Amino acid sequence: RRPARPHRDLVYPGGAAPCRHQHDPPIRVMQWNILAQALGEGKDGFVRCPLDALNWHERKYLILEEILTYRPDVLCLQEVDHYYDTFQPIMSGLGYQGSFLAKPWSPCLDVERNNGPDGCALFYRRSRFSLQATAHLRLSAMMLPTNQVAIVQTLSCRVTGRRLCVAVTHLKARSGWERLRSAQGADLLQRLRSITSRGGGGRQDLDQDLDQDLDLDRDLDQDQEERPGLLPLVVCGDFNAEPSEDVYRRFSSSPLGLDSAYKLLSRDGQTEPAYTTWKIRPSGESRGTLDYIWYSQEALSVDSLLDIPTEEQIGPDRLPSYHYPSDHLSLLCDLRFRG
Ligand code: NDP
Ligand code: CA
Repeated sequence: RRPARPHRDLVYPGGAAPCRHQHDPPIRVMQWNILAQALGEGKDGFVRCPLDALNWHERKYLILEEILTYRPDVLCLQEVDHYYDTFQPIMSGLGYQGSFLAKPWSPCLDVERNNGPDGCALFYRRSRFSLQATAHLRLSAMMLPTNQVAIVQTLSCRVTGRRLCVAVTHLKARSGWERLRSAQGADLLQRLRSITSRGGGGRQDLDQDLDQDLDLDRDLDQDQEERPGLLPLVVCGDFNAEPSEDVYRRFSSSPLGLDSAYKLLSRDGQTEPAYTTWKIRPSGESRGTLDYIWYSQEALSVDSLLDIPTEEQIGPDRLPSYHYPSDHLSLLCDLRFRG
């Protein structure tokens, strides 16, 4: 009954596919707003998506199939409202270590028979990385706490010993909230700067983030060789912001030296994809570029990116659908340390 998932090619923006470096494989990063089950069934109003395409006991396999097709080393998810009963145990069995942070006032809780709050989740492959530190952040805007969160982890690559900071976030949705998104982005950038500039972990976290739920899992050996400069950083998120918005400008011009990976899919290498989400609500059709993978351009380079499905592949009823489980597309890229 279900049509096949759309096939998506890996695109090599630098030209031909490079030969495989067995000793130093690229780091595969996936960014995906998977659509909270409670929101999809109870709030979103996806009028062209049949309700039984949203049945959790089938939809969860489509989400897992998408993840397992690409087997990312780092997986950044938003709108996770089945962490403890589904993703944590299943991903753990597949060799991943996960971390979850719920939104303080998740809109899922307004939905009858919800499965708890939605939030961000960050998974890394245990065979590839060891964990140095985790920070659970509640984002502020103009000093006031907001309903949006981020997870930041410092990972150490077991192959090369190189360290990498990874963050996942989901900024405030809807039009009219551009200034709040911008302020949340400013807060996140500031805290990322502080985390990456002190080497990604250590006791300073405790002073800085006293009000945060913070767990540290430090690898003491790694902490010995502290180097000056910023740790390489990858920030994945549903920013709920088009590239024209202030928060996008903040990220692309910050002192952290971040660039957006998916621009490299375009012919000129400067243009974001035409859409990362596409849905039909009672208010009409909504197509937008809201999701991003940011990376430190001095330290990392993009090997390849997973192509964006065409309008035909997405289909006339848009997303979600029987063959694609979320209204947001997954983004995937292979990153490599420069030098
Ligand atoms: P956001 O505005 O950030 O949106 C929350 C979710 O709604 C997102 O996942 C977003 O998805 C989705 N969404 C966006 N547009 C629409 C749409 N047109 N129709 C349906 N869903 C949409 O919400 P907040 O985090 O600011 O939380 C707001 C909610 O939180 C309130 O509705 C309330 O339920 C609850 N709340 C409760 C409080 C309390 O005291 N109990 C206090 C504060 C909030 P996407 O990102 O994919 O666009
Ligand atoms: Ca949503």
